[in-house]
Amino acid sequence: MTQGAHSPFSGPSDLHLHSNHSDGTEPPAEVVRQAHAHGIRTLALTDHDRTTGWVEAGDAAVALGMTFLPGIEFSARHDWRSVHVLGYLFDPADPGLVAETDRIRTDRLGRAERIVRNIARDYALDWIDVLAQTTPDATVGRPHIADALVARGIVRDRTEAFDGILHPRTGYYEPHYAPDPLTAVRLITRAGGVAVIAHPVTMGRDRMMPVSYLERLIAEGLGGLEIDHRENTEDGKRMLRGIAAEHDLIVTGSSDYHGAGKPNLPGENTTSDEMVARIIDRATGTPPRYP
Ligand code: AMP
Ligand code: FE
Ligand code: FE
Ligand code: ZN
Repeated sequence: MTQGAHSPFSGPSDLHLHSNHSDGTEPPAEVVRQAHAHGIRTLALTDHDRTTGWVEAGDAAVALGMTFLPGIEFSARHDWRSVHVLGYLFDPADPGLVAETDRIRTDRLGRAERIVRNIARDYALDWIDVLAQTTPDATVGRPHIADALVARGIVRDRTEAFDGILHPRTGYYEPHYAPDPLTAVRLITRAGGVAVIAHPVTMGRDRMMPVSYLERLIAEGLGGLEIDHRENTEDGKRMLRGIAAEHDLIVTGSSDYHGAGKPNLPGENTTSDEMVARIIDRATGTPPRYP
């Protein structure tokens, strides 16, 4: 196990989990307990576009003898593609990063209201139904609208909502503001963090951002790729392993746990000790919390 002198953590490590500060269904401390129950000993909380879960998750992790890596999943877009950029161990007070994540979250709120207005033309759904599914300042997204549709008895679960009413092609969808991935990578990196592209090939290798653009991100400080993720396609993973080897990138694996919101379970994919150590050694923004 290659661990730096400053990295007294132990695996297994899961570096991508969500709480109810975004679209997970459980509070941060419960996410940590679930990860621990599934054998995880080092974890990162990566709520969409916000960092407010860090303290609760960190406290819970340390109390259970686990190591906690503060993180985020930044909502970016390249052309028509939604691109998620994971950030680890950055300074959460960095003004540029705070301004951008504030802007994304604010626009997500108006966008969710627009989607609900569209849906309300055909279904009995009100904005208040969505508010009832969120915690006070959660990053609001389609999953909360899905939960409201479930509560109203219109669909059975989030999956049915995403396959139908919430699918971009069904006609109710609205986009939200999102910076390009280069902006996200720069903000995370300049805030002392390590940027990793989340699940880059969920739509297959041919629909991934162009490799030339990925190489531009690498030149601007991108640290790694999340390859072991249930939604990455097999041929996409093979291609990404080649790119990672060529550019000596960090390679991660993780569950993308969302509580009851998705079937993903903590630890279903993990990141090697060597790669966790590389993230910790590279970051300068915020240290991990150790037990
Ligand atoms: P949004 O960012 O508001 O467009 O919503 C996208 C989020 O919905 C992603 O972060 C996923 O966590 C979640 N999501 C996407 N597809 C599904 C699905 N089939 N079931 C549950 N959650 C999903
Ligand atoms: Fe999500
Ligand atoms: Fe994601
Ligand atoms: Zn995620």
